[in-house]
Amino acid sequence: MMTRTLLLNATYEPLTVIGWQKAMTLVTLHKVEVLAHYTRAVRSARREHNLPAVIRLTRRVSWRKLGIRFSRHHVYKRDAFTCQYCDTQLPASQLTLDHVTPRSTGGPTSWTNIVTCCVACNQLKADQTPEEAGMRLVRKPYAPYWMQLSVPNREDDQAAELWKPYLWQ
Ligand SMILES: [Zn+2]
Repeated sequence: MMTRTLLLNATYEPLTVIGWQKAMTLVTLHKVEVLAHYTRAVRSARREHNLPAVIRLTRRVSWRKLGIRFSRHHVYKRDAFTCQYCDTQLPASQLTLDHVTPRSTGGPTSWTNIVTCCVACNQLKADQTPEEAGMRLVRKPYAPYWMQLSVPNREDDQAAELWKPYLWQ
């Protein structure tokens, strides 16, 4: 069964998507409260359990613990394989990483200073800030949430309906 469960932090921020079996374990361990159920159910020895659609941790988990590993691939993915200067979507082979604030002036290699950049824009920008190079960022770089990288485009209808209030607030 493909049923999956949306896991929220205690603060209601979406954290991740997990399989229903893992979700049921968290429910059994009283680590989460169930905010929405699917109509689908599984039978245990004693009774029938509706599968959890949305669950919320009873105790807050820090972002650092859940952070996404910083990597070239994840930066490309965050930026949808799109150059953050000329807004062109390209295959990974034609993309590079750019330090918005150049390394030479102390720009860190971090989520908030690294963007996806095509080869041409990277050559144009060279060792300058966007302002110095007369270029503009399409979007300010940010540290992504696990959710943003992993939520599939297609969920079944009931999941979409039940998750919506928590994903778009
Ligand atoms: Zn470009």
